[in-house]
Amino acid sequence: MIQLYIPLNFLGVLYREIKQSLADMERLFKLLDQHREVADAPDAKPLVVSGGEVRFEHVDFSYEAKRQILFDVDFTIRPGTTTAVVGHSGSGKSTLSRLLFRFYDVQSGRIAIDGQDIRKVTQESLRRTIGIVPQDTVLFNDTIEYNIAYGNPQASREEIIAAARAAYIHDFIESLPDGYATMVGERGLKLSGGEKQRVAIARTLLKDPAILIFDEATSALDSRAEQAIQAQLKEIARDRTTLVIAHRLSTIADAAQILVLDHGRIIERGTHAELIARDGAYAQMWARQQARQEVPASPGGDLDME
Ligand code: ATP
Repeated sequence: MIQLYIPLNFLGVLYREIKQSLADMERLFKLLDQHREVADAPDAKPLVVSGGEVRFEHVDFSYEAKRQILFDVDFTIRPGTTTAVVGHSGSGKSTLSRLLFRFYDVQSGRIAIDGQDIRKVTQESLRRTIGIVPQDTVLFNDTIEYNIAYGNPQASREEIIAAARAAYIHDFIESLPDGYATMVGERGLKLSGGEKQRVAIARTLLKDPAILIFDEATSALDSRAEQAIQAQLKEIARDRTTLVIAHRLSTIADAAQILVLDHGRIIERGTHAELIARDGAYAQMWARQQARQEVPASPGGDLDME
C-alpha cells in the first residue's frame, strides 16, 4: 500500500504541475492514463476537423467549488483566424487554454470545435488537433533532434530539418559541434529562452495542428528575440485557428479579435482599432504602455491592467 501510494502521489503532483504549465501534456497523458480527471465518453468519436472553428458557449468554470473562475465566457474563433486574450494576472487567460485542451470540463455551457462538443470526442483526437507553444518548453535530456521530433515519432530526418529551418533554429543547430546529435536539457547544452521557444515552434510545425494555442512567456525575451519569435508565430498561425494568451500588447495588435478578460468575464472584445476607438479598459492599457515606453505607435512592453 505504502509502496503504491508514494509513486502515485508523486505522479499526481507532477501531473498537476505540468498541467498547470501546459507543457508536455501528451507525454504525460501517456504516462498517467489513470490520473486523468476527464474521461472519454463511452460513445466518444474522433473529432472531425473541417475548418477548425473554436466556440466557447456561455462557459462557467471553477477549479474548486467555492471559487468561480470563469463567468459566462462566450466567443468564437473563426477558422484560420487569431484571437488574443489579454487581462491582468489571474483573470483566467490560461484557464481558457486548459479548458480547450480539456484538462478540465466546464461546469456549464460548452466548448465546441467545428460544432462538436469536446466532451463527446476522444481525447486522443482532440489533443492531436491542438498544438501548444507553452510558456516554458520542457526539454528532455536527449539530443536536440529527439527534442524537436518529440510528439511526432514518425517524423523523418528531412521533416525534422525542415521544421527546424522554418523555426529559424537550423543554422544554430548546425553550428554546434555535434549538430542535431547535441545533447540538451539539464545535463546537456542549456538553451536560452528564445532557443527553447524555437524548439517548441519546430515541434509544433512537425505536429501540424489545425488549432494552435500560444501561451506567451510572462518573462519578456530581449526585444530582437521577441520580434523574431513573433514573426515566426505569425507564419505558423497563418491558416490555423489560433488562441494567443498574451502578456504583452506587442503580440496582438493585428489579431482578428482581442478579448479583454477581467475577473473571469469578457469585458471588451474587438480588433485593436475598435478597442482603441472604444476608449475603455484596453485603450487605457495601451495608453499606459505607450506612456511607459515613450515610443508612440510602437507596441511592446509588459501588459499592465492595474
Ligand atoms: P497569468 O497572467 O498570471 O498567467 P491568468 O490570467 O492566465 O494569469 P489563470 O492561470 O487562468 O490566470 O488563473 C485564473 C485563476 O484561477 C487564478 O485566480 C488562479 O489562482 C486560479 N487557478 C489557476 N489554476 C488553479 C488550480 N489548478 N486550482 C485552483 N485554482 C487555480
